[in-house]
Amino acid sequence: MNKQPINLKWMRIPKDIREKLLNNVWCSNCRGVVRAVEYSVEDNKMGLVIKGNCASCGDKVVRVIENE
Ligand SMILES: [Zn+2]
Repeated sequence: MNKQPINLKWMRIPKDIREKLLNNVWCSNCRGVVRAVEYSVEDNKMGLVIKGNCASCGDKVVRVIENE
């Protein structure tokens, strides 16, 4: 399951910040902040979009990181 292309904008974010972002994804099923696993990162006109699965329940989670 490692076929996602690496997003360069994402990789330019320091690793500790990336970890924080991944650990702060809202899951509507858990109704709380969860960790995203098996994620991919896509470019979007708003910024970056993390699409993954909730580490707790496995539901789909999405987080948008807006451009500064
Ligand atoms: Zn969940």
